[in-house]
Amino acid sequence: MPDTGARLLEGAPIAAEIRTAVAESVVNYRERVGRSPLLAILIVGRDAPSMVYLQQILKSCDLVGIDRRAVELDGEVTERAVIEALAELNADPTVSGIIVQMPLPPTIRLRAIVDAIDPAKDIDGIHPLNAGLLRLGYDGFLPATAHAAVEILRRSGIEIEGKDAVIIGRSTVVGMPAAFLLVREDATVTVCHSRTVDLAAHVRRGDIVVVAAGHPGLVTGDMLKPGAVVVDVGINVVDGKLVGDVDFESASRVASAITPVPGGVGPLTNAMLISHLVRAAEAQQAQARPLSEPVVGGSA
Ligand code: NAP
Repeated sequence: MPDTGARLLEGAPIAAEIRTAVAESVVNYRERVGRSPLLAILIVGRDAPSMVYLQQILKSCDLVGIDRRAVELDGEVTERAVIEALAELNADPTVSGIIVQMPLPPTIRLRAIVDAIDPAKDIDGIHPLNAGLLRLGYDGFLPATAHAAVEILRRSGIEIEGKDAVIIGRSTVVGMPAAFLLVREDATVTVCHSRTVDLAAHVRRGDIVVVAAGHPGLVTGDMLKPGAVVVDVGINVVDGKLVGDVDFESASRVASAITPVPGGVGPLTNAMLISHLVRAAEAQQAQARPLSEPVVGGSA
């Protein structure tokens, strides 16, 4: 990485910290429950980029002692068959969390699949119930990437309260949940998208700029306020190289801190996901009280 004026916000050390805490929770869970938390990954067809992502998730699980089960369905399968596979995973008490590999084949409606996941096992926060809980400021499951984008700021000691945060991207999995999280952290948030007029004018007001557009080089140094903190969520392949949405070279001369790509938000995303899984496993365990046990305190 070239020597830059900006502080590098690297995801790997934070991810390692989170994995250490998760591994301890897994040991504790296994001692109490007699098995490890289990992540189920539903794969419909073998889309190449998502299979790479899958390998990274499996590796993260292995590192912390989480069991995992990949359920692979043929790419030609019907929507009903996918929903039935999810129903089985929902009903299986040994399955703590479920993720569905995206993208789905075009014949399958995303919304039908998302709705079929048990919200209590929806560790990537894609079910409408979890999206609604986030919107209301309650503790549901957060989309792992948006969570990672904000967690990298929090754990790097970047002040968020009272800052102007500009987010580029309004997707349900990254841009919007990151916006709600930053509002929750008391930032003043602007959300930009492809119809935003004069993107640079908005970006220039940002003390914190989170970029999740999927466009390499979209944000350059001359668009930034001097001293801005830049979180680059983008993942793009250009000339065989992995790059973000931010022109790192020019941006790092103006920013006070910046996440690299690769090595920034990416490594943290899987760590957030497995931390959500352990939380799901613990919550399900707390619910699985024997019926004979008296309920203390009323409505639980
Ligand atoms: P997405 O669903 O395609 O959404 C992209 C968003 O960016 C949309 O809201 C779009 O606006 C906006 N946008 C596109 N071009 C723009 C432009 N020229 N100016 C301003 N806004 C623009 O993508 P996503 O799933 O949110 O992912 C965003 C990026 O993050 C991608 O590069 C993806 O690969 C990466 N990603 C990284 C991780 C990770 O772990 N680091 C995980 C997931 C995704 P409209 O709404 O108007 O179309």
